Amino acid sequence: DEPTTALDVTVEAAIVELVRDLGKKYGTSMLFISHNLGLVLETCDRICVMYSGEAVERGSIEDVFDEMQHPYTQALFRSIPLPGADKNSRPLVAIPGNFPLPHERPSGCNFGPRCDYFEAGRCDQGDIMMESVAGDDRHATRCLRYKEIDWNAPLALADKKEKGEIGKVILKMQDLRKYYEVSANALFGGANKKVVKANETLTFEARESETLAIVGESGCGKSTFAKVLMGLETATDGQILLDNQSIGNTPIEQRDTKTVADVQMVFQNPFDTLNPSMTVGRQIIRALEIFKIGKNEAERRTRMLELLDLVKLPREFGDRMPRQLSGGQKQRVGIARAFAGGARIVVADEPVSALDVSVQAAVTDLLMDIQREEKTTLLFISHDLSIVRYLSDRVMVMYLGHVVELGTTDQVFAPPYHPYTEALLSAVPIADTSVQKKHIVLDGDIPSAMNPPPGCPFQTRCHWKSQVPDGLCDREVPAVRTLPNGHQLKCHLSDEKLAEMEPVIKMAAE
Ligand code: ADP
Ligand code: MG
Repeated sequence: DEPTTALDVTVEAAIVELVRDLGKKYGTSMLFISHNLGLVLETCDRICVMYSGEAVERGSIEDVFDEMQHPYTQALFRSIPLPGADKNSRPLVAIPGNFPLPHERPSGCNFGPRCDYFEAGRCDQGDIMMESVAGDDRHATRCLRYKEIDWNAPLALADKKEKGEIGKVILKMQDLRKYYEVSANALFGGANKKVVKANETLTFEARESETLAIVGESGCGKSTFAKVLMGLETATDGQILLDNQSIGNTPIEQRDTKTVADVQMVFQNPFDTLNPSMTVGRQIIRALEIFKIGKNEAERRTRMLELLDLVKLPREFGDRMPRQLSGGQKQRVGIARAFAGGARIVVADEPVSALDVSVQAAVTDLLMDIQREEKTTLLFISHDLSIVRYLSDRVMVMYLGHVVELGTTDQVFAPPYHPYTEALLSAVPIADTSVQKKHIVLDGDIPSAMNPPPGCPFQTRCHWKSQVPDGLCDREVPAVRTLPNGHQLKCHLSDEKLAEMEPVIKMAAE
């Protein structure tokens, strides 16, 4: 039951391989419960798609992925980022509305109220049975209209969105370091201090209207860097410049209101970040008070309603309590609060990973829409490379506190890669039967940030290490090198070796 949902993609890949091998070896039947279609493709032979308590489609992976016969299956595939999706030219399509609760199921088809093909007087009458698809008795669907639907009709493209013009540099980090001191043995007091090197020499810039994605396995220092930027922690060394003013050593309580309002955060878990005993509207008004927005209560109330409009929540929601909202709606409130003071930089730390797949599309698109309007700089922290590829302009890959690769999304998702990025990409499950992937499994665990290996931080797991002569990787941290197109890599591999790298993800010829 969702055995790898809480794990990093690299660990997930190793576990999936283990499970598959065990199944083969012992002839075991497996039921694999997952919301991750890419993982299902890599692990399973057959699939049963469920919606609101019922199976709606059942069949072999090939049948259901490539010749689906149920509108819900189709909607699900349209809402997840597959290679080729693009926030401007091929946006994701979210499934409208919400999932019915068990006691609120509609009559007729449970999916009816959200279905593009709904026919009143037919789809909302009586029970609908699972029916075998003609010519294939192992492929079945629970849809009255499946024979009438043109499953190959091209997706009516939602309005193509204008790409926001990327503006001037707003944020600069220079050689940022953050070390935490922890006592080596808590029992014997702090006599023997150890240092956790959570961030090592982070250097990058972010521009107006730009989305910079920050990716890497858990523990690589993503949240630490976000906390230092927000002023929740202070930097050990190096600088953070906001509009050329240094803020890296100013904790949040000493920052002026404008700086605090400028740099805001959207958190991973909207369930924990809202006050359960305060209405949604009141929480947004609180944020406005803190940012000193509006001269009086009435002005702030108006602004609060505008913020609800901004995040596409009905204005009545201002009077609701957080428990009356779904996860996606709560995350919208979190976004409204972040933008209350007109934030210019928003750090989104895994903003959609706690949400349902079908809701993720709606929330990411909302962030993108607000960014286009407000010219926000978005620092999007994520371990989900499919979403990153879909929405970011540039990508920064972190490993053990180091930036190992930095470039435009196209540069990072095509060779030459940093060997770590190559392994990460190979580990991402992709829900598309026409995609072929190179298979790289990373051995071992990430070394501890308290005791990083000598030389290159990635050398203990690198598949390319033998290609570098003289044990250089064991001895020296590679310098950052910039390729002619501006793409940065922290790696000892020679230009010739880098040029030999092949793409990890190949689409079958169209
Ligand atoms: P990520 O967000 O990428 O998962 P974090 O930034 O949370 O990573 O953590 C980076 C490293 O710093 C980890 O090894 C973590 O254990 C350590 N760390 C984070 N916060 C603290 C703290 N307050 N004290 C000591 N170590 C910490
Ligand atoms: Mg984190």
